[in-house]
Amino acid sequence: MTNQVIDIVYLISSALVIFGIKKLNSPDTARAGNLFSTLAIFLAVVVTLLNKEIVQFHTILIGVAIGSAIGVVFARTVKMTQMPEMIAMLNGFGSISSALIGITEFYRTFPNPSGFDITAIVLSAIVGTSTFSGSIIAYAKLRELMTGKAILYKFQHPLNLLMFLAIIGFSIYLPYHPESNVSFIMINILSLVLGVTLVLPIGGADMPVVIALHNSYSGIAVLVTGFLFNNNVLIIIGSLVGSSGMILTYIMCKGMNRSVINVMFGAVATDNTPRTTDGQPARRSAVKEYSIEDAITVLQNCRSLIVVPGYGLAAAQAQHAVRELGDLLEERGVSVKYAIHPVAGRMPGHMNVLLAEANVPYPQLYDMDEINGEFSKTDVSLVIGANDVVNPAAKNSPSSPIYGMPILDVESTKTVIVLKRSMNPGFAGIENELFERQNTMMVFGDAKKTVNEFIKGIKE
Ligand code: NDP
Repeated sequence: MTNQVIDIVYLISSALVIFGIKKLNSPDTARAGNLFSTLAIFLAVVVTLLNKEIVQFHTILIGVAIGSAIGVVFARTVKMTQMPEMIAMLNGFGSISSALIGITEFYRTFPNPSGFDITAIVLSAIVGTSTFSGSIIAYAKLRELMTGKAILYKFQHPLNLLMFLAIIGFSIYLPYHPESNVSFIMINILSLVLGVTLVLPIGGADMPVVIALHNSYSGIAVLVTGFLFNNNVLIIIGSLVGSSGMILTYIMCKGMNRSVINVMFGAVATDNTPRTTDGQPARRSAVKEYSIEDAITVLQNCRSLIVVPGYGLAAAQAQHAVRELGDLLEERGVSVKYAIHPVAGRMPGHMNVLLAEANVPYPQLYDMDEINGEFSKTDVSLVIGANDVVNPAAKNSPSSPIYGMPILDVESTKTVIVLKRSMNPGFAGIENELFERQNTMMVFGDAKKTVNEFIKGIKE
């Protein structure tokens, strides 16, 4: 197949990917959009294999077989709540692939790469290796293989700055002295270390932002590799991933009312929860625990209800039970709405996807800005596994790490029922004064079990 034909197919496949992404806009078409983009990428891969420069296929096919097997196992076993760590891994693998291609090209063209090639090689080494090591640390934090909190040490920022400047120095030197193997090795080692040291001081609720940022970097690494090989599909897909990762980062930061710089260098998220001697979070005297029966009585007597889902809903997989409860109450004449905070859960759109999976009618889902005025006119807010996104400290406590983050105004509802298992803090690792309010009823237990008990009780 000639290069022109391959390029035309690349262009078609890139257009189809963009069309697929467009379909992700709505929950009705999202599944089809995903399939569409997957098939488009498959087309690009098949066409690449027809390139005449490929001299033998068996290593490629072995790689495809191993990669596909791992992909299928991950896709089938990874839970929705583990998506951020799965994406961290994918970012890591994508970036190291670009870096390894850059390294191979450096030694293949050594010691006389063209000026253009060496620039692309250096860029792919910096972005690829730093994103790889940073992604591994992000994965370890999210998977709790190490502490998920911010790790701080002396001279952190000056040391990072020093390493950054050294990388810049070697990168300027190398194009003038492409025979300098040491400079190239130093760029790779320093970038690898910088990837780690930049992620260590980030923790808790900021980690998903780091994942989105790494996602963007991995796209940039692919883009640079595309320039190195003059490969259009890599350039287009790399740009798409790079820009969409940036947009996602922006959406997350906006949802938390923080800047990217503050997330990267602000070191938020230390756990200040008072603990009992055995290390369990203390249940403070002002917190009032209610029984499931108490909550059922309140639900039976309300006329309007706003359900506030959070990460705990996803962890408990309570979405179907919640839908059933909503339907049941609606049949009894209760107005039921769902309040969606932009960063509830562990990724943007997490709650929309969960509720769509349970076929909750889309018009019942309200964005934060639309619903915040409604809480004060509503009888009951049912907070299911949400914590940080309803924490009034974001409004009232200037010393709080989440101060300034827009929250769902549940405290202004007549009665707030909170479902969670313990007094453990949310992702940001901070206490929640909502749980101590006069109008708050804490019902402890697994969200799915509790909601099923509600359904049983109301039916009886
Ligand atoms: P949180 O992480 O604040 O709280 C989740 C709550 O769910 C916990 O208090 C936990 O308490 C409870 N929970 C866990 N499992 C269960 C269960 N099986 N049954 C009942 N309750 C359960 O979640 P939010 O959704 O309120 O907030 C999301 C956080 O993630 C915010 O800090 C946000 O800034 C951050 N974040 C989100 C991003 C996104 O894109 N969505 C991006 C960046 C950050 P307990 O253990 O006691 O049960």
